[in-house]
Amino acid sequence: MSAGDGRPQDREWRRRAAAVLPAGMYGHMAAQKLPEGYPQFMDHGEGCRLRDVDGREFIDFMCGWGPIVLGRRHPEVEEAVRGQLSRGDVMNGPTPVMVELAEVLTGMIPHADWTVLAKNGTDATTACVSTARAATGRRKILVAAGAYHGAAPWCSPSLGGVLPEDRAHLDFFEYNDAASAEAAADRAGDDLAGIIVSPVRQELGRRQEHATAEFARGLRGIADARGAALILDDVRCGFRLDLAGSWEPLGVRPDLAAWSKAIANGQPLAAVTGREWLRAGAEAIYVTGSFWYSPVPMAAALATLRVLRETDALERIRAAGETFASGLRAQASALGLEVEVSGPAQMPLLQFAGDEHQELSRAFADEAVRRGVYLHPTHNWFLSAAHGPEDIARALEITDEAFAALAARV
Ligand SMILES: *Cc1c(COP(=O)(O)O)cnc(C)c1O
Repeated sequence: MSAGDGRPQDREWRRRAAAVLPAGMYGHMAAQKLPEGYPQFMDHGEGCRLRDVDGREFIDFMCGWGPIVLGRRHPEVEEAVRGQLSRGDVMNGPTPVMVELAEVLTGMIPHADWTVLAKNGTDATTACVSTARAATGRRKILVAAGAYHGAAPWCSPSLGGVLPEDRAHLDFFEYNDAASAEAAADRAGDDLAGIIVSPVRQELGRRQEHATAEFARGLRGIADARGAALILDDVRCGFRLDLAGSWEPLGVRPDLAAWSKAIANGQPLAAVTGREWLRAGAEAIYVTGSFWYSPVPMAAALATLRVLRETDALERIRAAGETFASGLRAQASALGLEVEVSGPAQMPLLQFAGDEHQELSRAFADEAVRRGVYLHPTHNWFLSAAHGPEDIARALEITDEAFAALAARV
């Protein structure tokens, strides 16, 4: 019996997709070939639960790869969306909700003197780079080797269709190695426009690494000494760890930051925030899009950020993540499996010792998804405020069985 046999609907939609989508699927859904037990096509989502087109239910630890922070179909966000939809979405200009959201963001984020609202994280990181270049009149951008900043030619992980010219003025440093950034800044000389960095090192299949305070301060110092912009790519961590920005606990504030994923609990929205000295740069660049002024996602963001500010949602996400991680560690250790759960509690990743080719993490994820827990073998997971204690307890019952099945195999 092949893996798809119990999932006729998913198999059928994949067959139809193969005829009309490149390779049947593109982007991260295609690149990260998930184990056989994973469905591709979803039908329904509620809170922290997902149901696929075959009616299988999962406790979801990917949260739509980050956007879902309060849980799916959150009542206050849905109400904001419905309320705005009943007055229309795309018009010939924005509605006042755009200004209200900009006021909330600049009030909440200490470095933010202004904001530009966009659709996707890639829009935001790309606009940060353009803003830094326009403001400084310089070209060079320093990037941590292996870091993900989006799906545009300047930063895409694939070189398909990308020209060397698209990346001509990038240079690279090692994450958590300020000396390597200093050396790259020396190579850039007086042409250094900016340094872009994510708050946590979160590369596929790699142990997650928190930025050290020394590294964050080191980058801040390099940018300051050279009149370049420090750009924090907070697209993935933003609004899940700290509402003021993910390096706020380290006491390091960027000049520009890119935000998206969790900002509107699943509605398409992104933001750039920046300091006063970069305002002229933001005024000089041309960034826009047919859907960039639509008020529905902005209304969703206002509701999402209000709930995040006024409730203990972030604290509950952290606590749920900690309970989940310590449960996973205990289960593995009871079976003699050596695992590490790395990264922030709100976005953990489980890996097995010596599992260089990710065979164990893939087998574990496959055993888990077949039993109803949707996590990922190599990409960090995401928890939401809808992951209650009972959901975590139920998920741990399932992961215990998944570990046992894995231990029986190895
Ligand atoms: C997801 C992500 C992006 C790109 O965001 P999109 O909305 O997918 O364009 C950029 N940077 C980081 C760190 C991300 O996780």
